Amino acid sequence: MVRRPGYLKGNVFCGKCQLERGRGDNRLVIQRAVGSNKAEYFHFFCLARQHGQCTSRHIPLHDVEEAVIRH
Ligand SMILES: [Zn+2]
Repeated sequence: MVRRPGYLKGNVFCGKCQLERGRGDNRLVIQRAVGSNKAEYFHFFCLARQHGQCTSRHIPLHDVEEAVIRH
C-alpha cells in the first residue's frame, strides 16, 4: 500500500536543527523522486539545508511517519 504523504505536510520539523541549533522552526519539505523501476519515492529534506545551515540528509518518508507516530 502506498500512502500519500499529504497529511504530514507542514507538520514535520527538522529534528537535527532542533537538537543542534535549538531551532524548531525549520520545516521539512517533501521531495518526490521516481526510481529506475518507476516507483515513486518521497523524501523529506530540511529547508535550512539549502542554505548550508543543516547537515541532515534526505529522510525517507517512512522514517518520518514513524517518528511522527512515536511522537
Ligand atoms: Zn535541519
